[in-house]
Amino acid sequence: MPSRHLVLFDIDGTLLRSDGAGVAAMLRAFTMLHGDRGFSFEGTEIAGALDAVLFARMMAKHGLPANDATHTQFLETYRSELLRALTPGRARAMPGADQLALTLRTKGAATGLLTGNYEPTAFIKIRAAGIDTSHFPFGAFGSDGPTRRDLTPVALARAAAHHGRSFAPELVTIIGDTPADIDCAKAHGCRALGVATGPYSTEQLRSCGADLAVEDLSATESITRWILG
Ligand SMILES: [Mg+2]
Repeated sequence: MPSRHLVLFDIDGTLLRSDGAGVAAMLRAFTMLHGDRGFSFEGTEIAGALDAVLFARMMAKHGLPANDATHTQFLETYRSELLRALTPGRARAMPGADQLALTLRTKGAATGLLTGNYEPTAFIKIRAAGIDTSHFPFGAFGSDGPTRRDLTPVALARAAAHHGRSFAPELVTIIGDTPADIDCAKAHGCRALGVATGPYSTEQLRSCGADLAVEDLSATESITRWILG
């Protein structure tokens, strides 16, 4: 019996960590395509950011053209650099993350992604961390809108298309490790579950509006009860 609940997971800092492999692969891709211009994300808030926005900002910063052709070229190069960088053990699942998604699915909840990652690189990271990709048959990704807030309606529409039914916002929970994850939930009347496995503490996540904030996702039974309760 399917439940009426939908749960959307962020990736970096929430499902897994890859210790800078993603950022390093992006910087290598910029250098490979445009030469050594001292590309750096210094002064840029990476956590919670959208990949397509990071691309556009970096190109603008260096006076390079950001268009469909250069974006596609970047994504292709970043994708192959990430594949090379994520050697076994480099990406690690966060405690309880895979189990939580599995438990939610077992109880009939719909599960998907809401992430700033590009779709192809999202699944490279998830696979590298040993997390079951079948937990995430749909999602909203880092080139689906100009801000993270814009991704929530995209994820809801894809969930509805995939399951053949719509999900009421109050029964949608977004799980993430940054204020941007909390914001993209609350802005659309969804519930926000903050997890302190990224750069922010439970106190910080709570103070920016998380309905619940936990140290990690290992208490899968009680977190599942809170989500479905
Ligand atoms: Mg994150």
